[in-house]
Amino acid sequence: MSEPTITGTETIVAVATAPGRGGVGIVRLSGNNALAIARAITGQTLSPRHAHFCPFSDSAGQRLDSGIALYFPGPHSFTGEDVVELQGHGGPVILDLLVKACTARGARQARPGEFSERAFLNDKLDLAQAEAIADLINSTTEQAALNANRSLQGAFSREINALVELVTRLRVYVEAAIDFPEEEIDFIGDGQVREQLLAIIDQLERVHAQARQGALLQEGMKLVIAGKPNAGKSSLLNALSGQDRAIVTAIEGTTRDVLREHIQIDGMPLHIVDTAGLRDSADEVEQEGIRRAWSEMESADHILLVVDGSNPDHDNDKPRAIWPEIQQHLTRHIATSVVHNKCDLSGREPGVSDHNGTAIIELSAKTGAGMDLLKSHLKQRMGYSESEESSFSARRRHLQSLEKAARALAAGRAQLEGAGAGELLAEDLRECQHALGEITGAVSSDQLLGEIFSSFCIGK
Ligand code: GDP
Repeated sequence: MSEPTITGTETIVAVATAPGRGGVGIVRLSGNNALAIARAITGQTLSPRHAHFCPFSDSAGQRLDSGIALYFPGPHSFTGEDVVELQGHGGPVILDLLVKACTARGARQARPGEFSERAFLNDKLDLAQAEAIADLINSTTEQAALNANRSLQGAFSREINALVELVTRLRVYVEAAIDFPEEEIDFIGDGQVREQLLAIIDQLERVHAQARQGALLQEGMKLVIAGKPNAGKSSLLNALSGQDRAIVTAIEGTTRDVLREHIQIDGMPLHIVDTAGLRDSADEVEQEGIRRAWSEMESADHILLVVDGSNPDHDNDKPRAIWPEIQQHLTRHIATSVVHNKCDLSGREPGVSDHNGTAIIELSAKTGAGMDLLKSHLKQRMGYSESEESSFSARRRHLQSLEKAARALAAGRAQLEGAGAGELLAEDLRECQHALGEITGAVSSDQLLGEIFSSFCIGK
């Protein structure tokens, strides 16, 4: 008996290869009419999983190109639907003509990520795996690419599913005890529940640490360099990135816009943003730069507040003068470290010290003294460890769900150890299950799916 083809909706089409010119370009079709459309274009009946060399023609019968056609019948295809790939020559115009030949025969241009979305909706992969496809494509380091591939193969999802199973089992036990009190299971007094709960909390913590490392490698953290004009922000960006990207001058207000640099510190990707010096200015362009500086800081993972350490009399430049001003502007707490720059002039030794929980790093962006201390400090603050096993990729979204799940477990533990409230523990376990389900897509909303897949490239 042949397996049923998953009844798709409309047949979609898109160029699957990167824009630009290349030896080969691929147009992909997915949906119920994919095979019929391909037959009309190639004039051939395609047999499953065979490479057919054939002409590609438009609806007027005009030959557009020739190449390889491949047919993957659903459900054993990437999307789970009938899929056809037309591999022609890799020029944007010819591929566009081929897409038009498909739309003229009833296909619709695919939205970004629509192939992956269909794969998810047809249970070919879960949400974390679908996200790993985009992460694999967007990887900027080798380690990130290897991790994304492991997530695509299901390494992260298996960890989540294992946790979900443990939580479900415990929840069933607790709920049974609530529903059938006559069974006289003293589950509260029964140390097993606590033991299992603690084991789940431990496991979740381990997965969170791995996911954090994975997300750090995948997405990189955003470091914003801020401070008064002439403190040495641009010099610090150049020293961190190892190249003269930012213009360094002694004229205040040189960096009027934001400058971005993507660097790696011992394999840790970092998005650095150098901002306009924070000061009152009448210059409209500079004002706009300062406005952007504030907006960049708002979305930072970490702020490096740079002050000119060689200018002790310049009170405006001291962190205690700038810091309240920065805090006033920001709507949320963002981890901040202070760099006392120009230690070559101040005569202070390079070093890292702690002042009421805020790290102060003495260094010289100009001579490079203390730069290695700053790099180690950043790795430590971002939670990056070269030795930490990071066997899969993850996203911030996943970390947030894991943290929600951990909070629910902590609340459940408090219920169990404090009030001995079984009903509330069961509710917390349900919440934990729900949060974990958001990662794999067992729990999802149209809005979430829309947000995730719309960030994919077209044709994926
Ligand atoms: P920004 O306005 O904060 O971006 O400051 P710049 O990076 O443009 O630097 C302002 C001035 O300070 C320039 O003349 C730099 O050469 C100088 N400068 C920056 N860092 C150092 C440092 O560590 N030591 C010394 N001696 N001069 C520095």
